[in-house]
Amino acid sequence: MLLKSIKSMTRAKFICPCPGGVSINTNSVPNTSNLNTIERYLKSINSIGNEKILIPQLSQSKSYLKITGIPYIQPNGNKLTSDDITTTMKYLELFELVNLAAKPRVIKASPKSDMAIIWFDIWDSQNSSKAKLLINHSFNFGRYIATIRATNMNPGVPQCHNCWKWGHSTFSCRAHGSRCQKCNSPHKLEYHRDLAWCCKANSKLNPPRLETAKGEPCPHNFKCINCKGEHMADDNKCPFWKHRFNREWYSKKAQEARETRANSTCLAVGSIKI
Ligand SMILES: [Zn+2]
Ligand SMILES: [Zn+2]
Ligand SMILES: [Zn+2]
Ligand SMILES: [Zn+2]
Repeated sequence: MLLKSIKSMTRAKFICPCPGGVSINTNSVPNTSNLNTIERYLKSINSIGNEKILIPQLSQSKSYLKITGIPYIQPNGNKLTSDDITTTMKYLELFELVNLAAKPRVIKASPKSDMAIIWFDIWDSQNSSKAKLLINHSFNFGRYIATIRATNMNPGVPQCHNCWKWGHSTFSCRAHGSRCQKCNSPHKLEYHRDLAWCCKANSKLNPPRLETAKGEPCPHNFKCINCKGEHMADDNKCPFWKHRFNREWYSKKAQEARETRANSTCLAVGSIKI
């Protein structure tokens, strides 16, 4: 409703309070003009002091890119490494504003090819504004001309940064709102201590649970939603993380999860008959 005033097709679907601010869910990626409208709207609410309003920001996402045109075996006889790429990137103006989301990955373009493909992920706005500045640009890598290409394919299995499950990207997530990596409840990890039930006092329990002291991190343990291990859903100790480039392993896990779900449905139906 609030974005309708500027004849924009962007609509705010729902606004939810979160400690330290509000989170606004929109039907498409807001542009600068939409963000200005949101800022004006928030400033027009008398009960909020003007000084309390920070500039609305888009949540970050990742863009996936690849580099082609560099041989897999370098003139000195060594294999091209991820460090060779990051060192070159440091000296190039083209990459000045780029923040890598992970170490670049170097693979052979095909088993018989002598060329490499370098996959790299960058932190970006949700409309990929940084990726757009890099795509189809070339740069010198030693005596070779390397070219950056867009790719919607990441060679690894994606982990959703909304619900923290593996196998779909954050963009295609069907969960409403963000989930916490620790407890999988509908809040962001930074608000876990304030919003999670585990840190609230409960006198009905035996023994009664005390509230976690303000400013202290949550001391409670939760199981990872993916592997049920004693770590957060995005921990690199998780076997799902370790196998993220092994699609075969992942398909097997997905199949096992489907079978477990099917079995539990049968049990539920069975118990109704009894
Ligand atoms: Zn998801
Ligand atoms: Zn939580
Ligand atoms: Zn807790
Ligand atoms: Zn895990």
